[in-house]
Amino acid sequence: MHVLISGASIAGPALAYWLTRHGFSVTVVERAPALRKTGGHAVDLFRPAMDITERMGVLQAVAERATGARRMTLLREGARRPVRVDLARIFSAASDRHVEIMRDDLSEIYYDATRDDAEYVFGDSITAISPDGEVRFENAAPRRFDLVVGADGLHSNVRRLAFGDESLFAEFIGAYLGVLTLPRSYARDGETLMHVGVGRTAAMYGARHLDDARALFLFRSERELDCHHRDVPRQKELLRDAFTGLHADVDRWLAELDRTPAFYFDSITQLHMDTWSRGRVTLVGDAGYCPGPAVGGSTTLAIVGAYVLAGELARAGGDHERAFPAYEAAMADHVRGSRAAALSAVKTLVPASGLGAWGLAQGARLLSALPAGPSRALARRTTKSARLYATMPLPAYPPSPTASPARAAEGHGPGA
Ligand SMILES: Cc1cc2nc3c(=O)[nH]c(=O)nc-3n(C[C@H](O)[C@H](O)[C@H](O)COP(=O)(O)OP(=O)(O)OC[C@H]3O[C@@H](n4cnc5c(N)ncnc54)[C@H](O)[C@@H]3O)c2cc1C
Repeated sequence: MHVLISGASIAGPALAYWLTRHGFSVTVVERAPALRKTGGHAVDLFRPAMDITERMGVLQAVAERATGARRMTLLREGARRPVRVDLARIFSAASDRHVEIMRDDLSEIYYDATRDDAEYVFGDSITAISPDGEVRFENAAPRRFDLVVGADGLHSNVRRLAFGDESLFAEFIGAYLGVLTLPRSYARDGETLMHVGVGRTAAMYGARHLDDARALFLFRSERELDCHHRDVPRQKELLRDAFTGLHADVDRWLAELDRTPAFYFDSITQLHMDTWSRGRVTLVGDAGYCPGPAVGGSTTLAIVGAYVLAGELARAGGDHERAFPAYEAAMADHVRGSRAAALSAVKTLVPASGLGAWGLAQGARLLSALPAGPSRALARRTTKSARLYATMPLPAYPPSPTASPARAAEGHGPGA
């Protein structure tokens, strides 16, 4: 049975891994001409994603490429004294297993774990999917697949082809996000610097092995702003308007806007779909259920989703009419929880008032100052994500005895 996956970032390679383990043949098509190597931004693996990564045999590789973020200096607008935060303590209070890693490092590790067992096609994109499984591409000749999975991110192409325009499902949650790449000299080893003002938060971090640094900007906006998603000069102007004057550090980061080699700007939106599956097509990761980039545990959700989708397909012997509803049922609570956690993260991370900014600084100080036990208890009580990731169970899906990647490549997978 042959599955086509669109997207080779996190969900795509993770799904490819588990599908080939269960005996399916897999092709992954990625629009980018090669695996991205720029780093992207830092992402979080919480306990369930760590457990899955361990079962994939690549936990050590992930640990070796972790960003090494240990400390944060948080400065509230107008406050004279910074708050020193023990990040490791905060992460361990939120989840008993956690690692922070650059997205592109994780993507490469998952790709390396699957490249011998799955076919990867770079520099191409799906243009049409017919109900009988014939798939057309921008460059390659049409091919037939039994199933097609969109793992192509928040602005998914497969979702658009199978379900319609993104505007039908995207819900703006009142904030914007910008990221720019800065020279490495801005970063202090293992330390994140965060400036918090009313309605705006900016942070700068590096990673042990990166030769540049990232500045992340989050700001509130009641309405969606008038700005085309390809209008980069306008996006930079919006960022300058929102952040100028927050702090001299932030003004220096903004001064790099005209020189930055990489710039990202987007509204923070959540996807709300009644179902992620239609016929032979389903969605995984941000493509189906992004709770909001940078504010939810969406990387963990994407990895858990890939693991569960592959497991349910194996359990149903490749019968997607049974597997897709089972996958959606298994993920529904996690997705709902993640959305709620993201909404509360926006409120906390980008405070709407001076009191909120003070509360954020004090909360971070308390969490990192209390002994581990009480700080974990406080985190569980105050953060939705802590509860969510501490309680997300992983079903067991034993690999089918007839399945090995080699057999899958010969077409012996479920239903073949
Ligand atoms: C600025 C920023 C900060 C973030 N911070 C965090 C964080 O701190 N913690 C966290 O957990 N998460 C964070 N995230 C979210 C995290 O990056 C995503 O949840 C995660 O990468 C989802 O993985 P994915 O594989 O589902 O989608 P993506 O990583 O978006 O990958 C989609 C892939 O599909 C490819 N693609 C797109 N269109 C096509 C097409 N037409 N055909 C073929 N391929 C296509 C893309 O090139 C890409 O490789 C952040 C996101 C952003 C944008």
